[in-house]
Amino acid sequence: MPKVLIVDDSGVMRKIIQKNIKAANLVVDEFVEAGDGKEALEKLKAGPVDLILCDWNMPNMTGIEFAKTLQSSGEYCGIPIVMITTEGSDSMRAEASSAGVKGYITKPFTPEQLTNELGKFLMLS
Ligand SMILES: [Mg+2]
Repeated sequence: MPKVLIVDDSGVMRKIIQKNIKAANLVVDEFVEAGDGKEALEKLKAGPVDLILCDWNMPNMTGIEFAKTLQSSGEYCGIPIVMITTEGSDSMRAEASSAGVKGYITKPFTPEQLTNELGKFLMLS
């Protein structure tokens, strides 16, 4: 029963991502939202998730800080993280990859790009 955590400081972007996932017929039972990495850690403590979609630039705790925190935690290091960000440079992609990030989508994304990347982690209905 896939549960997806969407971490982005833009509430509009969190809704756009959900809308695109639904429109693509990717199976998700529940979406959990967080506005930054710190809030995302709190949401994880409240219950496990199967996939994390994470922005890079956020207040309090950035996406890369969040990814590194999860990577070094025993409890959450197995949850796949996909970055969805305006930051697309090679060095940032490499940093994300070494922090255990499993997928990378740059904003603005097309519905097809989102579907193709997330299709590696979610099933189609
Ligand atoms: Mg942001």
